[in-house]
Amino acid sequence: MIRQNLHCHTDFDDGADSPEAMILAAEKAGLSSVGVSLHCPIPGEDDWCCPAENEPQFLETMHGLRAKYRGRIEVFCGLEYDTRAARRSVPPYDYIIGSCHFLGGHAVDNTPAEAEAVIAQFSSPDRAAEAYFAQLAALAAFDEIAVVGHFDLLTKYEERGPLYDPSSPAYRDAAFAAMETLNRAGKIFEINTGAISRGWRTTPYPSPELLRHLHSLGGRICICSDAHAADGIVCAFDAAEALARSCGFTEYQVFDGQGFVSAAF
Ligand SMILES: [Zn+2]
Ligand SMILES: [Zn+2]
Repeated sequence: MIRQNLHCHTDFDDGADSPEAMILAAEKAGLSSVGVSLHCPIPGEDDWCCPAENEPQFLETMHGLRAKYRGRIEVFCGLEYDTRAARRSVPPYDYIIGSCHFLGGHAVDNTPAEAEAVIAQFSSPDRAAEAYFAQLAALAAFDEIAVVGHFDLLTKYEERGPLYDPSSPAYRDAAFAAMETLNRAGKIFEINTGAISRGWRTTPYPSPELLRHLHSLGGRICICSDAHAADGIVCAFDAAEALARSCGFTEYQVFDGQGFVSAAF
């Protein structure tokens, strides 16, 4: 059983519930540790990111909750960095997840209509995918980033009608190249179930094809729910583990307070 989730959101950003509600849900679900990952402040993006002026209060809140729940569940304080934000050092956070949510001025994961607008800015879905994966690959140069967030986020709306063609050579080449670059830099790839709890997908991502490629590279994974509400704190973790196993993985990475270590399924 997976005993840790490092990726979730609260009412300090675009989540529905308080940090304490997320911690209590994690404890109830049987996790031994949980990390809350704040959407990094970005000027002009206060509707989904934490406003910069609220960040000190978030850190103070998490510090207090870590002490309050010591002995019951271990609490970590993480940051979900976006490629549009200013580069960060790790402290005062425990770890940083690196993600790309924007392409050409639009969010790739906000609504299907906005995802279509992203593609319209490029000459084809393949060109948009190449631009997305190039942005993601650039995170390899950020030593501070431990985990790559939702690597193939472009497929969030795939089940509502395909926007991209992950089987096209151009898409695959771009995705594989980014994966290889990030893996060489030692990044961990999360299996993310967040689109399931939000009703967009029935399966976790990355795709089996990408995960098999990662496994062939000797890459590392962790399992994250990216929950935006307490009831999704361990959404589809069984499916995520089954997906990982089916792609050859026998272990996943957990944060132990100092760094990432392997745990067997
Ligand atoms: Zn994200
Ligand atoms: Zn997230």
